[in-house]
Amino acid sequence: MNSNFERNNIAELEGYVSGEQRNDPDLIKLNTNENAYPASPQTQQALETINIEDLRRYPQPTSDNFRRAAAALHQIDPSNIIATRGGDELLRLLLTTFVDPGAAVGMTDLTYSLYPILTRIQDAHPFAVALTNDWKLPLNFTEQINAESCQLTFVVNPHAPTGTLTSAADLIKISNNINGLLVIDEAYVDFVEDPNHDLSRFAANSRNVVLLRSLSKGYGLAGLRFGYGVGPQHLIEPMLRKTRDSYNLDAISQALATAAIQDQVYAKENWKRVNAHREELVKGLTKMGFDCIPSQANFVLATVPDASATSAEAIYHALRTENVLVRYFPDERISNKLRITVGRPEEQARLLALLAPILGISAA
Ligand SMILES: *Cc1c(COP(=O)(O)O)cnc(C)c1O
Repeated sequence: MNSNFERNNIAELEGYVSGEQRNDPDLIKLNTNENAYPASPQTQQALETINIEDLRRYPQPTSDNFRRAAAALHQIDPSNIIATRGGDELLRLLLTTFVDPGAAVGMTDLTYSLYPILTRIQDAHPFAVALTNDWKLPLNFTEQINAESCQLTFVVNPHAPTGTLTSAADLIKISNNINGLLVIDEAYVDFVEDPNHDLSRFAANSRNVVLLRSLSKGYGLAGLRFGYGVGPQHLIEPMLRKTRDSYNLDAISQALATAAIQDQVYAKENWKRVNAHREELVKGLTKMGFDCIPSQANFVLATVPDASATSAEAIYHALRTENVLVRYFPDERISNKLRITVGRPEEQARLLALLAPILGISAA
């Protein structure tokens, strides 16, 4: 303990820095990978049927209606599912339930920047394996993780912040050979085009795999804070019965999340539309000389043209002045890139129109 009463691992920690959140109707917000469109109208209806009288009572503690709906969707048993306050709560539950202080936690470099922070909160050590130059897992990934005796390893797929996809077959092979737990963070999996890319039944019957799902991106509900985990009972049960907060999800969230995942017709339309916009965005950026990493998520990591006299950071600031937010990361490996969330066509058109003069090229 130090003079501020913080544990030393907390005192040494720099907190997570969220993407800028501003409530300005004129703002074009392409910086935090929110869905371009709202959730299903059935979610709105579910909200309208909620009575304040119902909130006098505690909510159902384990979100069982949601778990049943998610189980039906994935054709697994509700006992293979835990509902959490965003995917982020699941990450914390996984660490507090399965990782000893002092242990190693595997991840990749780059990855979701919350993993090392949550790992340090648990007083465990992040062990990062470098991705290859084309942002893939290296062939000896499993060996590196096992050599470090990682108790748990986070792999985000599609990868953030690049959008690249590792195949289900490759992940199954990794999970079979890895000694510790494998957490596959599927926050963006709804935007994967291959309908056969589905690890949920595999995870439910696995020895050591938990999937993270989120309603924030695919279902347009980032403000609701709802996610869930999929895994075998021996991994779900201890989080559900022991380490979860007694009432981790409020009644309103449970009702809305259940309505949202039950409207798969709407959800699938949404993903198709967002993916079509992604293609348009990539086309527009490529035309201007950006190099876009092939993405299976609702964002694109775009490399600033070599010929550009303007740096990625300067472009980020110039766009911000024009009320368009994208994400810039100072990390060395991507400091010449911008991460741009897929938006609505008119938002993307505005972005592209602004980029031309910033780059000093004439608009196409
Ligand atoms: C958005 C995101 C999550 C989960 O976010 P929640 O809003 O807490 O559900 C998890 N992992 C990655 C990589 C994400 O981008």
